[in-house]
Amino acid sequence: MSKETKTTYVTQPALPPLEEFVESLKTIWESRILTNKGPFHKRFEKELADYLGVKFISLTANGTLALVTALQALRITGEVITTPYSFVATTHSLWWNNIKPVFVDIDPETCNLDPGRIEAAITPHTTAILPVHVYGNPCDVNQIQEIAGIYGLKVIYDACHTFGVTMDGVPVLNFGDLSVMSFHATKTFSTFEGGAIVCHDEAMKKRIDFLINFGFAGETTVVAPGINSKMNEVQAAMGLLQLRHIDGYLARRRQIVSLYRERLTKVPGLRMMQDMPGVKHCYTYFPVFVNEGEYGMSRDALYEKLKQNGIYCRRYFYPLISQFPMYRGLESAQPGRLPAAEKATGEVLCLPVYPDLTDATVEHIVELLQRDRT
Ligand SMILES: *Cc1c(COP(=O)(O)O)cnc(C)c1O
Repeated sequence: MSKETKTTYVTQPALPPLEEFVESLKTIWESRILTNKGPFHKRFEKELADYLGVKFISLTANGTLALVTALQALRITGEVITTPYSFVATTHSLWWNNIKPVFVDIDPETCNLDPGRIEAAITPHTTAILPVHVYGNPCDVNQIQEIAGIYGLKVIYDACHTFGVTMDGVPVLNFGDLSVMSFHATKTFSTFEGGAIVCHDEAMKKRIDFLINFGFAGETTVVAPGINSKMNEVQAAMGLLQLRHIDGYLARRRQIVSLYRERLTKVPGLRMMQDMPGVKHCYTYFPVFVNEGEYGMSRDALYEKLKQNGIYCRRYFYPLISQFPMYRGLESAQPGRLPAAEKATGEVLCLPVYPDLTDATVEHIVELLQRDRT
């Protein structure tokens, strides 16, 4: 009997029953409305805002265009303080707006932008802070807001890893001037590709909606050099279906993380991220940090070993954004200036977590993590 090696990836989208999606497609076919704020778009926008507990949300084609548009909406220019420990799109969104990124180091525990280091990076050109809720864990939003208030800076959160995350019952999306979400296939909540911008007042929502649609404010009125970052009807229909099932998906993610935590507590040299007090997490990723000396194997060796066994983990985030050629010449990107991020990028490994992952596969991964480390 040949032994079949099944491949397990770090994530896999959770899909609603196909029949439900086919029903939606039939409706779209009959209506012949494919995009431009059709009925599915309108309904999804409303139901999503209700689910997330936010006042205003604008749907977009993806998270990257949402970031680019959010910076335009607030007319951010000059320099923006951001984290090197994220997906490249965070910093690329600044580049596309001709803004200079200024990298600030992360907190080694949470991997989020360290608020204690923000003030030292402020210059007369600084206009905003662009932090990321890394792995969906909330940033220190109060301290960031305090600094932003003192220096008159805007705050845009890259919330692409969060979905339904709350702190003492308050949605994390309600902090900052704007928050940006991604509904890419690899995220907790997916509309194939997709994204959103969360804001807190009607005038801002109106401006964002203009910018998403070429700057059109009426049939013949263009009020800004907007872009086309609209979400289409098929994406919105998918989003509505996902909303029906998301609570189950989130519950299953929670179970998987509990199982990993239970099994991995006694593995020396593997640090797991803990839940923050009062926070309802979404577990978009489950990172472990490999201390080579204590664990007896490097992160990269472990990554390769798991891969050979059909388990494709991801090193989120390696390399750091500040190490890519288009950013490494910046002063704030110089080696040694971001020690916590430089350490984390060499140690992190994100383990598979997604609703369809079975307990048996988790046990198998755990066993691989425990075995033959020297
Ligand atoms: C996924 C992601 C993005 C980009 O979102 P897309 O929808 O893929 O364009 C931006 N920032 C972070 C932190 C992400 O994880």
